[in-house]
Amino acid sequence: MSAIYPSELCVDDTLPTTDRFTVCSVNGKVGMGVRSKLRFIRGTLVAKFTGHLSNTILQHTLQASPHTHLHDPYFVGLLTHSCAPNCALDMQRLEILALTDVEADQLLTIDYAATEDVLHRQFACGCGSPACRKWITGRREPVNEAGHAYLAGLASKKVRSLIGRVRRSAR
Ligand SMILES: [Zn+2]
Repeated sequence: MSAIYPSELCVDDTLPTTDRFTVCSVNGKVGMGVRSKLRFIRGTLVAKFTGHLSNTILQHTLQASPHTHLHDPYFVGLLTHSCAPNCALDMQRLEILALTDVEADQLLTIDYAATEDVLHRQFACGCGSPACRKWITGRREPVNEAGHAYLAGLASKKVRSLIGRVRRSAR
């Protein structure tokens, strides 16, 4: 068992270790993620986290307060987004909590809009949840131009497939 954080960040022994979590590549699109090796019951503490404070939004920062961001490219900054996540972050206590039961070998997921006013980069979501918002932004920013184009593309694809279905059923 070893610590996931490098030694200069590993200030206490409650921080995550490799016997509980694996930092892994998820797939070409999503990038890195964190997989749990244990089962966590809904409502319980999954892990504590840490990082360096930053004034700017970076790829692996999480918003701690309106103008403060925690930069952690080792663990919590790598969590995958889901519109129906299994975890939530407490940015005051620096804790990951289980929103649902988390099974062993499951990816830990969070909703990026739950903590971030503005994202480092807005992106298309394929989380597969029925509640998927399809295009992810921070909670205080509008959908950007790329997002409008992407959502319009999805809408016209849906219309085309509906027309196709109507035509097929009319035969
Ligand atoms: Zn989604």
